[in-house]
Amino acid sequence: MNVRAPNDLGAVDPDVARLVAQEADRRARTIDLIASESEPSAPVLEALGSVFAAKTAEGYPGRRYHRGTEFADEVEQLAIDRAKALFGAGHANVQPSSGVNANLAVYRALLKPGDAVLALQLAHGGHLSHGDPASITGAVYRFEHYGVRADTETIDLDEVRDLALRHRPRLIVTGGSSYPRAIDYAAFAAIAAEVESKLLVDMAHVAGLVAAGELPSPVPHADAVTFTTYKTMLGPHGGVILSTADLARKIDRAIFPGTQGAPDFGRITAKAVCLGIAASDGFRETQRRIRANATALATALAGYGDRLVSGGTDNHMVLVDLRHRGVTGDVAEVALETAAILCNRNVIPFDPGTPDRPSGLRFGTTSPAQRGMGPSEMTEIAALIDKALQAPDPAAVRPRAEALAARFGAGPAQ
Ligand SMILES: *Cc1c(COP(=O)(O)O)cnc(C)c1O
Repeated sequence: MNVRAPNDLGAVDPDVARLVAQEADRRARTIDLIASESEPSAPVLEALGSVFAAKTAEGYPGRRYHRGTEFADEVEQLAIDRAKALFGAGHANVQPSSGVNANLAVYRALLKPGDAVLALQLAHGGHLSHGDPASITGAVYRFEHYGVRADTETIDLDEVRDLALRHRPRLIVTGGSSYPRAIDYAAFAAIAAEVESKLLVDMAHVAGLVAAGELPSPVPHADAVTFTTYKTMLGPHGGVILSTADLARKIDRAIFPGTQGAPDFGRITAKAVCLGIAASDGFRETQRRIRANATALATALAGYGDRLVSGGTDNHMVLVDLRHRGVTGDVAEVALETAAILCNRNVIPFDPGTPDRPSGLRFGTTSPAQRGMGPSEMTEIAALIDKALQAPDPAAVRPRAEALAARFGAGPAQ
């Protein structure tokens, strides 16, 4: 008799099943202000864990190195078509395993080792994959970095142009992971044109806001645009590259065989789902609330005397200078976790501290907006943050934070 093994996770592996349950419980009981996180929806998780996760299909739709790919081809083409339509792009590649892989492939497509590149420095809001010495990108290419102005803490376009004229980069990169303001993509495009450089916009954090029309789109201005699908796009972990149609072949070859092998089809399937949802009214409403919540959180924190880097926010992110509180970011993030509020320590521009002991905290409002919280809850959360950062015992704040979390439940409200 052919007896199948039990296929229930709880029966096969109670240890992992317990951890999954504990993680779900942790999410439900905390308020998540980690700017890079979102609440995975049931359709995204179902696609991620579907049989497509088991498919090996090197290559691209219609040009595979394995057989049995007719449905994989269709699901990848669906994701590609949805990405192109959503952002009005000439080409899309949905295979990057992550945002960093997406950037690596764009560099591989447009540059040779040793070429000059100009990007926003990490300490002023950029990203490791924009040429930080700790990243392979900093070892392979010759990165120069621009920063923000000391007075406004917004990107110094005069410095961008000066450095571009001096270093004649082949590629200019903008976008970042802790930059709370909108970026003038047209100004970047003009500087790139002046020095005959290509322009890459890394909109990893803000792609959902761009898709919903809450922020201006870089797509009309850039040669290539990369983003991650798990931040404001509300989808699975992974990356996407958009480009002009003429770069299609170079970009595709830079992903496979250039920097990746067989793509993760569970993720491609889940990307197709998230890109489909991103065209809906419900998604646009969520993105509108994400931004309204960030503004409300920023206003309320400023009311408690917190200094906002750049004076405020245009997106889902609030960067706070903690120095007036006499506490560093590493200590503050632990105090807030004790109070069931999650965020991360972050350097601020011209930070006298270090990445491990920086002067700031970064908050994001994606998860609360997805759970149905609005500006009044953000005001309530700011009060809890203020209390937890003052209290000798931040655990005293925890019951109020847990009660607020419980009122809205876990996962996206719909
Ligand atoms: C998050 C982020 C990435 C990297 O994404 P991973 O998925 O961690 O590889 C790249 N660029 C920027 C600006 C980001 O914020």
